[in-house]
Formats: sequence, C-alpha cells, structure tokens
Amino acid sequence: MTTPQLYDNHGRPINYLRLAVTDRCNLRCFYCMPEEGIQYLPKKELLTFEEIERLIQLVASLGITKIRLTGGEPFVRTDLMQLIRKIVSVEGIEKVHLTTNGILTSPHIKELKELRIASVNLSLDTLNRERFKKITRRDEFENTWNTLQQLIASGIPVKINAVVMEGKNIEDIIPMIELTRAHNVSVRFIEEMPFNGAGNHYQQLTWTYKKILDWIKVQYPNLVKIADEPNTTSYNYQVPGFIGNIGVIAAFSRTFCGTCNRIRVTAQGTLKTCLYDDGVLNIKELMRSGASDEEIKGSLIRAFSSRPHDGFEAESHRKNKVVSESMSTIGG
Ligand code: SAM
Ligand code: SF4
Repeated sequence: MTTPQLYDNHGRPINYLRLAVTDRCNLRCFYCMPEEGIQYLPKKELLTFEEIERLIQLVASLGITKIRLTGGEPFVRTDLMQLIRKIVSVEGIEKVHLTTNGILTSPHIKELKELRIASVNLSLDTLNRERFKKITRRDEFENTWNTLQQLIASGIPVKINAVVMEGKNIEDIIPMIELTRAHNVSVRFIEEMPFNGAGNHYQQLTWTYKKILDWIKVQYPNLVKIADEPNTTSYNYQVPGFIGNIGVIAAFSRTFCGTCNRIRVTAQGTLKTCLYDDGVLNIKELMRSGASDEEIKGSLIRAFSSRPHDGFEAESHRKNKVVSESMSTIGG
C-alpha cells in the first residue's frame, strides 16, 4: 500500500526528517558551540533508540521517506550502527543519510556501504591542519581527512560541508573546489548561521552566498550551473572538466524556504517545522506520557499544518527572540 503524501499549509510536501541523535560532540566548532561547550542534556532527556525507531515508523506512515541522522556528533552515541541497522529496514523509508565530522566514522564505513546509506555529509571547513584546529578547537584534521579518503574509496556518495567564515577559512575555498577536479565529491559552501550556542551572533553576514559565488567565479569564470535536485537547499555548479561539483547554501539568507520539505527533531525530542522556530511539539513528552500512535500522528499532522511560510516568519514567532541554541542540539 502506498503512503499518502502529506502537505503543509503552504502546499509543500513533507517527506524529509532530520533527526539529532545526540547533542554531544567531540569537536567544538567555533560556529556551533562556545569553547567551553554547551550544557549537555542529561542522557535520560535524549530519545532512546526505541523511541527513535517508533518515531521513524510513525513519520514513515505519514509520508516521510528520507531520514538524516545528525547531532551533535552521531557517532559519539554508542551503538549508533545498531540504530542505523533498524532504521534502514523501516517500511517506507527509502533513504537514510548521515552527517558526521568523520572522527569516529571510519571503522563503520564498510557496514554503512552494506546498509546502503544514501550519502554521507562530512563536515570539513579547511584542508589545513592548523586552521582545522583553530576552527574546531581540536587537533583532529588527520582523522576527518582519512575518513574522507575512505568514504570516497567506498563509493558512498559524499558531500563535504564547509561553513564559510571571514578570517577563518576563505583561503580554503579554492583548494576545496580543487578536490572536485579528480574526485566525485560535492563540496558545499554554507553561509554561517547564528546557532553558535552563545546567542551573540552578528545580524549582518559578510560571506553571503552571493559573495561566495562571486569569489569562486573570479577563479573559475567558466563555472557552469548544473541542475539542482528538487527541494535542494544548494545552488549547484561544476567547473568544466572536473568530476565532482560544488554547491552554495544560503542558510542565513534563506532563499530556499519556498520548497522546504523538511522537518527536524532535536536531540531532546522536540519537533521543529522550521530551523528558525524554537520548537513546536515535544514528541518525547508525548511518547513518555503514554500517547498512542494515532494521538502522536494527530499532533504531528496539526504541527505540519501550521508551518511558518519561511525562516523569517518562524524567527519572528520565537518565544525566545534571541537565537541562542547550538546547532549541535538542533541537528544541523
Ligand atoms: N557533528 C556533525 C557534523 O559536524 O557534521 C553533525 C552535526 S553538525 C551540527 C551538522 C552541520 O551543521 C555541519 O555540517 C556543520 O558545519 C553545520 N553547522 C553547525 N553550526 C552551523 C552554523 N552556525 N552555521 C552553518 N552551519 C552550521
Ligand atoms: Fe560538533 Fe558538528 Fe557542531 Fe562541529 S558542527 S561542534 S562537529 S556538532
């Protein structure tokens, strides 16, 4: 039986869930967390694997076909592979993706391939060890780099996520594009967003997607626009003759809201129907208070039918006006 597709109140299909399996992380990326880290949730406040599996079964029955596991760093959650094994066989789930910083990932690549993980997004903002250390506040470049090599060799589709930051990694933009010359990877340059866990972010962004693109075009004037996948958040390009491709993601400028097909569940089990809202439904509480599957599905459907039109509207409705969360809790 085919599952009916759910649409939100703006006619956008909802078929993609990004789920933060933990808020804990083994890095301290400058744009995501303060140096001293964030106040982690007590373990009992994280969704258990059983709760996550139930949630995924419920959303699959509502038309979600694509799941991304993220965090925090998903692999700091012990037995993550056990969860992935379960999720890939949930009826209705067609694609499971993963976002990771790569530090604990390499021992699992073989199995990820066997489980047909649809793609891995690897966060790597620089190709320089010292700059990596400054950005992430940990000396782990080799680990992430080795994971990248192994992922490419495995044949799992790989996307590199690089947040573009004034004074931190501008000199890496071109070398990272050069990675796509001989490797079938997609390098995506992301506008920095305010979710740095400190609530002290700027209002104006220096490196907007337009500026990033202009910078790239100076070096590669023949850059070719290639097709964007439906509901994608990135504008995609290729340097003629290169094997891989590049993307630019206007995450702060929010140009892609009109086709947004995604919802998020944070590490504490809260539903966000927009990255910029401050949470619209406490799914964990519902589950732990004994709600039935039908009751939870009803609550999800109601939440999907009152989605803000875009990230600016969502931000304006926030109870907590200042964005102070860490992306590590939300699940980037
Ligand atoms: N720890 C994993 C990782 O880094 O890949 C997964 C979680 S991380 C929060 C997911 C993605 O969010 C990463 O690619 C990271 O670069 C991105 N991210 C985190 N904070 C961000 C911010 N303030 N602006 C833009 N992207 C951010
Ligand atoms: Fe950790 Fe990912 Fe946040 Fe970096 S971006 S601190 S790796 S959760």
